[in-house]
Order: sequence, then structure tokens, then C-alpha cells
Amino acid sequence: MELSANETPGLVCAHHHLYSALARGMPAPPRTPTSFIEILELVWWRLDRALDLAMLEWSAKLAALEALESGCTAIIDHHESPNAIEGSLSVLADACDEVGVRLNTAYGVTDRHGPDGATAGLAENDRFLSDGGRGMVGVHAAFTCTDDTLVAAAELAARHGVGVHIHVAEGPDDIGAVERLAGLATDSWLLIHGVHLPDDHGLAGTIVHNPRSNMNNAVGYARPTRFANPIALGTDGIGAAMLDEFALAYVKQREHEVTASPDAAWSWLTTGWDLFPEARHDRVAWSYEPIDPWRLAFTTGVRALDVDIDGQPALRNGVATRVDADEIRAKATEQAARLFAALDEMET
Ligand SMILES: [Zn+2]
Repeated sequence: MELSANETPGLVCAHHHLYSALARGMPAPPRTPTSFIEILELVWWRLDRALDLAMLEWSAKLAALEALESGCTAIIDHHESPNAIEGSLSVLADACDEVGVRLNTAYGVTDRHGPDGATAGLAENDRFLSDGGRGMVGVHAAFTCTDDTLVAAAELAARHGVGVHIHVAEGPDDIGAVERLAGLATDSWLLIHGVHLPDDHGLAGTIVHNPRSNMNNAVGYARPTRFANPIALGTDGIGAAMLDEFALAYVKQREHEVTASPDAAWSWLTTGWDLFPEARHDRVAWSYEPIDPWRLAFTTGVRALDVDIDGQPALRNGVATRVDADEIRAKATEQAARLFAALDEMET
């Protein structure tokens, strides 16, 4: 595809959580989390329990719209909604389809809600993939799963010819992941975060670096350059503005290594096209030119003007063409109010 000086293919977010788009403005947790595990327990694991399919539909539409408006045309999503598992991946896929954004999704299996919860999560991955859905098999993280569940997820993924999408060593609580995933992980797996992985961990797969999320959760710096694995960039649910995430990845690296250039972080961004090759067929015209890592690392507020997905318009002058952006924002606001009310009523 011929690209002009202000154009790129569609950008790829290699790790997103469409379910978290309504979280902004949510009620404060019952007490202030003081560690990564408490952030999970008091914020995210309460939020995911409160989700129903109507909330998911509009959360996904809002997240997909924001991705499109940021020039991201392909999202690799990791989903959890333990009280609305069955059918959830199709709700997300339909929402992205309506907006026009490409989606690869997976249900994050976990034993946090007992063996029935893990079984239902595996079944949802199996159902979605069997129905022809574009996805992977999701696992929340090794530290919330039994060995049997990890093996079942790996086997299900192999049966469908896809990889496993799993959080790995995001915080110190998951340090045992290396031993437990050894022998299971393959090149098609996505290992999310890897902050606390040893340099020579030996796990196969692409490591997805999420610098903003890692800083927000105070889990430390992953130092992706120390790994032999391919590295890609994700947002971990904080939007899908991949040029922003690239610039952050660069400056975070630079903080630790004064000789670092933006080329490494740019290469992590481009790994997204190995994971989601169809995005190369999409075209984004940006508000800045030329597209060059050394310039974009120091240029704030670059906007996607026009986006074509598979040759068809999806954004013109920054406005979505296939959906009514105002309606999506209004409906998402209504569903966020329902979500916040449910969180207010939750005991713990
Ligand atoms: Zn995540």
C-alpha cells in the first residue's frame, strides 16, 4: 500500500480490556489499595463482578470508538465478566464490528470464582472460537489458576490453533508463573507485562509491554530490551492511543537508559502488525508529518484525521462514519451509571 508522509497502516493495541472503558469516574474503592494485589482486589475484581452484557456492549462500543479516533484499527482484547460469561465475547465482537474496528478477544479464565467459574470461562473461549470468532484462549494469570486449569487452557488453544493470552509476572505475586508455564507456552502465546520475569525466563511467546499501566499500578519497569522474546505494545485498558503509548514507552526506557533512542519503542509498536497482520491493510492519515519515531516521540497531540479499514472509510476529519459517536457516548454514560450503582451496592 502506498502511504503518504502523514500516513501509517492501522495501529494495533496488543493488550486491551474493552470491559474497562466505563470504569472512569467509578466510585472509590472501600479503602485505598496499598499494593498491586489490593488494586486488583479492591478495584478491578469488584468492577468485573458488577458487569452485565448491556454494560459490556456499550463499554466495548465506547472503547472501539476511542480506538478508531486514535488511529488504532485492531484490538487484542482480554475479557473478564464473571457474572456474565456466556456470550460475552460475541457481545464484544459485535460491538467492534459495528464501529468497524478489528478485534481479537479472549475470555480470561481463572479459578478465583471456583472450579465452575474456570469451566465456564474455558467454555466461552471454546464456544466463541468454534463459532468462527477471531480470538485466543484467555487466562487471567497463573497465580489465580490451578495447574489443571492452565493445562486445560493450553490444550484448548492448541486444539483451535491459537495462542493463550495471559498476564505474566505483572506484580511480585505472580513470580511463580515462570515455573508453572514452562513447557506450556509456545511462540503463539501473548505474555502480558513480564515486569517481574527473570531476564532468561525461557518462556516462548510475545511479551506485551504496557508502560502507562505499569506506572499507574506501581509494579516497576519491565525493561523489555532484556528479553529475547518479540516485544509488542498494549495499553492494558487505558484507551488505545498507540502513538501516546509509543512515546511513553520511549521516555520510560530513556529514564533508565540515557542512550536509548525511540527506535526500540517504535519497533515494539510495529510488532503489532505481526500479531494482527490485517491491520496493514488499513490506512490512517495523521495531523502531523512526516511519520518518524524521532519526531513523534517529541510531538504531543497528534490526531488521527481519516481512517480506512479494509479500504472502507471508518473515520473522516476525526469523526466516525459508521456509527453515531454522540449516541455511543450517551449510551455508555447511562451504562456507566448502572455500573457505578451496582458497585455502590456491592458488599466488599
Ligand atoms: Zn491486562
